[in-house]
Amino acid sequence: MITLSRETAEIWTPDGCPVEEALARTTHLGVAAHQDDLEIMAVDGILRTFQRQDTWFTGVVVSDGAGSPRDGLYRDHTDEGMREVRRLEQKKAALVGGYSAVVLLDHPSAAVKSAADAAPETDLRALLESTKPRVVYTHNLADKHDTHVAVALRTIAAIRGLPPEIRPERLYGGEVWRDLDWLLDEDKVTFDLSAHESLQAALLSVFDSQISGGKRYDLATAGRRRAHAPLLQPARGGGVAAGRPGGGHPRPLVRTQEGRPHNGHPPRRRSGSPLLRDGLGSERSRHCG
Ligand SMILES: [Zn+2]
Repeated sequence: MITLSRETAEIWTPDGCPVEEALARTTHLGVAAHQDDLEIMAVDGILRTFQRQDTWFTGVVVSDGAGSPRDGLYRDHTDEGMREVRRLEQKKAALVGGYSAVVLLDHPSAAVKSAADAAPETDLRALLESTKPRVVYTHNLADKHDTHVAVALRTIAAIRGLPPEIRPERLYGGEVWRDLDWLLDEDKVTFDLSAHESLQAALLSVFDSQISGGKRYDLATAGRRRAHAPLLQPARGGGVAAGRPGGGHPRPLVRTQEGRPHNGHPPRRRSGSPLLRDGLGSERSRHCG
C-alpha cells in the first residue's frame, strides 16, 4: 500500500477501483501544483486515455489550494474552506475526464517551494514507482509561478531517483497561464487537441471557484487552443503548445535505461498522427475489475 507523507493526502478513484490497481493501470501521469492546472497543461493525456481501457490518466495535485484567490460566491471562504472546495472540484474533473485516479498530496505551497522539505519529492517518487507511467506531464521550468516551477523541479528529481528501467519514456513541461511562443519550434511539442472539445470545456467548467468573479480562464484557454491551431505549425484542428522542462536548454533532464534523453523532444511528427500513439497500450491492458 502506498504511503503518502501528509495525513490529509487522498487518492480517489472515480470508478471505485482499488487504489493500488488504479495506480498500477496508469499510463499517463500529470503532476500539477494546483487544482485545475492538469486540465490545462495535461489535457493531452486526459484526451488520449478518455474512454479507453488500455490507457489511463492519473492526476496528481501537489499543493493544498488553501491560498487560492476567491471572489463571488466564495469571497468569504476561509483558507480551510477553499481547500475543501478545490479538492471537490478536482474530484469532479476526475469524474468528468474518466481519470484512473486523482491524488491530492495536500502540501502547503511553502513546503512545495522549500528545497529543504523532502516530503513532496518523496511522495512523487512513491507515486512514480506505483504508476510506472510511460508519459509524465508537469509544469515547465520557465513558468511564471514559483509553485509551478517547484513542482517541476520535484518531479524531475523524483524521476531521476527512479531506477532507469522504470523511468517514463516522455516528460513534458507544459504551460498553464502563458504561451510558449518564445521557444524555438524544434524545442516545442504541439499536441493535437481537436478531439472532444466539449469535454475540454466541461473539464474546466467544474472549477467554479476560480472562474467565479469574472476570471473566465475557461474561455481564455479554449480561445488560446483555437488560436494555436491556425497560427502554429504543424498543429491541425486544435492545439496547445507545451515545451520540455527547461525549454531551450540542451542538457537532457532525464535519461532512460538506454541513456537516451527523453526530455520532451518528440520524434519527427508525421502529418496528423498522434505523437504518442506508437506502442501505447500494447502491453498494458489493465482494466480494474
Ligand atoms: Zn497552478
